[in-house]
Amino acid sequence: MVKMETVKQGTAAAQDPGPLLEALGSIVGPASLLTDPVSLEPYLTEWRGRYRGQATALVMPGTTAEAAAVVKACAQAGVAMVPQGGNSGLVGGAIPHAEPGRPEIIVSTGRLKRIRELDAANYTLTAEAGCVLADLQTAAAEANRLFPLSLGAEGSCQIGGNISSNAGGINVLRYGTTRDLVLGLEVVLPDGRLFDGLRGLRKDNTGYDLKQLFIGAEGTLGLVTAATCKLYPRPGSVATALVAVRDPSAAIELYSATRDALGEGLAAFELLNRLSVQLVLEHIPGARDPLDQSYDWYVLLELAPAGDSAQADLEAFLGGRMEAGAVLDGTLAQSESQREALWRMRHAISEAEKHAGAGIKHDVAVPVSRVDEFIRTASAAALQEVPGALVVAFGHLGDGNIHFNLNQPADLEREAFLDRWDAVAARVHGIAHELGGSFSAEHGVGRMKRDQLKEFRGGVEYELMRSLKQTLDPSGLMNPGKLFPPAD
Ligand code: FAD
Ligand code: ZN
Repeated sequence: MVKMETVKQGTAAAQDPGPLLEALGSIVGPASLLTDPVSLEPYLTEWRGRYRGQATALVMPGTTAEAAAVVKACAQAGVAMVPQGGNSGLVGGAIPHAEPGRPEIIVSTGRLKRIRELDAANYTLTAEAGCVLADLQTAAAEANRLFPLSLGAEGSCQIGGNISSNAGGINVLRYGTTRDLVLGLEVVLPDGRLFDGLRGLRKDNTGYDLKQLFIGAEGTLGLVTAATCKLYPRPGSVATALVAVRDPSAAIELYSATRDALGEGLAAFELLNRLSVQLVLEHIPGARDPLDQSYDWYVLLELAPAGDSAQADLEAFLGGRMEAGAVLDGTLAQSESQREALWRMRHAISEAEKHAGAGIKHDVAVPVSRVDEFIRTASAAALQEVPGALVVAFGHLGDGNIHFNLNQPADLEREAFLDRWDAVAARVHGIAHELGGSFSAEHGVGRMKRDQLKEFRGGVEYELMRSLKQTLDPSGLMNPGKLFPPAD
């Protein structure tokens, strides 16, 4: 009933969006309301170019009060909203997706950029949703603190987007995902009311922990406007190494051995197959092969303990593993620039893949102990589906999270290759599920994986998700068509 009314109102707004646009312009000022196609263009396409949408306008509130007024005006007009942060998401979540007769407005957090407070003694930072992740890392460092969230898109993604996608990245092993870093949230609900849960408390047992609902909700339950996040002491020293191992099973053994020997100082443990490295060497200017000889599998690991012994500890440990034959070869960064070069190579894989033709991508998680089995079984299945495809497997081994991608084989046309996407994904996701895993470890569901959400999280789990959506957004105006199919 409510839904039908909404569509009707939406249709009216589609016919004449004028009054709503006028209202939005008067809330944010004309410079923060984009309506012409040329200015809108960059906000309509996803980073990989896989999704493209249409929007009536993009509105950029500059304060929480403006954000609440914007959402309220859209809600009253029955017009759907698409929250957008840095637009670095990979599942089409921030891209509008208007159905005919149902216009959408992009609500961008690009002007919500203030760091409201950095409380060094409380180890917290309170920032508005549009703060770029790298800027928060810098602000924390200037106060001699660490904000540990770190990922390839950190120069453009925003904390609101990180929270809404519960971003992972390279330090999850030690500090957890974004969810583990959020203490408080401020959210504009789909009807324009403000949920003010902006508390910097580590202990707060006062009923349901409502902020958790909005973390990882991909903009479907409200617009995050600010967050209070945890900070940590900066490590006393950092050591980074790239080592070659025989196969993923040797990498898992090395992972356990490293944790046992070096404890909580282990901050990152990334697995890369040769093809991932190869793509970076071929497509990223200035990239150099890190070892003299090529190997099938590599591990990039980083030690960041409180004390100053990282380099010596990692060197001694890896030396021992090499003598034991568990590590085939390796290099230990001797300077910050060498360390950066190793991480640049790791972070450049996604960019390099873009240049290497079409890709079929998966972002799965399985228990760490089953990563080897996953890679073996999924590779065989994927190659059955697309003979000759190139398996690019890399990711956060310490979190059991593998980006398992297939690149277009030379003898198959782009479209014919991409037509295989669903068949390959069904096999790969099925294998992850069988191994107790997840079809989406860190990139979320968005538009891309909403059918899988129903398939793998069906039954009571899906019903609960649907009823939460219905409770918070009964008119279905907040990022419709994301997480759940529109007709669901
Ligand atoms: P957007 O892309 O703008 O939005 C993402 C989702 O959140 C959308 O559904 C959007 O509607 C919603 N949203 C955005 N802002 C808000 C808000 N204020 N309130 C409510 N909803 C909102 N991700 C990882 O987890 N780990 C990685 O290691 C990683 N590496 C990446 C590397 C590269 C090169 C790239 C391009 C992406 C990578 N990503 C990774 C994916 C992406 O960067 C993350 O998902 C990031 O957290 C998205 O932030 P964003 O600000 O760009 O959000
Ligand atoms: Zn990742």
